[in-house]
Amino acid sequence: MLFRQLFDVSSSTYSYLIAGRRGGEALIIDPVLEKVDRYVALLNDLDLRLVKAIDTHLHADHVTGLGALRDRTRCVTVMGEMTTADVVSMRVAEGDVIEIDGVRLDVLYTPGHTDDSYSFVMPDRVFSGDTLLIRGTGRTDFQNGDPRAQYDSIFGKLLKLPEATLLYPAHDYKGDTVSTIGEERARNPRLQVRSVDEYADLMNNLKLPNPKLMDVAVPANRHIGLAQDRADRIGLAPSAARAIVAAGGALLVDLREPAERARRAIPESLVHTPYRELADALAEGGLLTTLARATGKRLLFICAYGERSAMAVEAARAAGFQDAVHVIGGLNAWALQTTFSPSPGS
Ligand code: FE
Repeated sequence: MLFRQLFDVSSSTYSYLIAGRRGGEALIIDPVLEKVDRYVALLNDLDLRLVKAIDTHLHADHVTGLGALRDRTRCVTVMGEMTTADVVSMRVAEGDVIEIDGVRLDVLYTPGHTDDSYSFVMPDRVFSGDTLLIRGTGRTDFQNGDPRAQYDSIFGKLLKLPEATLLYPAHDYKGDTVSTIGEERARNPRLQVRSVDEYADLMNNLKLPNPKLMDVAVPANRHIGLAQDRADRIGLAPSAARAIVAAGGALLVDLREPAERARRAIPESLVHTPYRELADALAEGGLLTTLARATGKRLLFICAYGERSAMAVEAARAAGFQDAVHVIGGLNAWALQTTFSPSPGS
């Protein structure tokens, strides 16, 4: 495994670049906007292809690099299902697995610092965001923070991990880089409490000033989706898309991953090409190239929220499929349309 802990001095943020092997797929956790050039250079140096950029929660102290990395590398953006960000390509919930070639992150929902805080677990380490820090815990006084929820997340979930589990937080202000679950249980001053009430009292009396960048960072981090006009120009409203599929005029290609499809199927979709396999599918002799030529139908992409599908249209058009389009708003909008208006022919 390839593992790099990267630091942003101005916000004391740690970002983590992880890959199964040199030359393979990579993911990044909690990237910082100002550091995106550095990440891209490092990805190139290590011959890595960034396929997922993940935030543990909506940050208040720095602007996320998710949107810029998506635009630079065409990676998929990932956050927890509780996020208030406008659009991320993929939303995950506790029990889900975030997967790339050679790396699996198990998703834990660990609210408390914010109500959209998640931790990501590997067999020997955990990325705890701002839920559990080294000798500290994330503040709970804004963005629907809740010390009682945080107590449950820490004592009920994170401290249940094996003692030797390495703890990699989203920040450190003292210069520490890593700890373990056992060390924090024994030595973290915030965890030496006898009850949830005592913990809540402690957290409710910290009297911290707001983060310097909060008024800039929070609104910016809520608007990270692909520019809507760019996505709309190459898309169809769900009703129009449905009509074309019903008339047999398009190949509906579901770009979601198998786990997302298992949770919620699109009955009309016969072609499944996970977004990260798109380049191969659009190559000469690839699945989509072959199917489109054999049937004479245009490619119509769909995903969860309309972001991966917009990027897929751009890739398909670049590969010569000029009439490729996507479903604006993704399955989310497609399913709403089923509920509120009759489908063609009914
Ligand atoms: Fe935070």
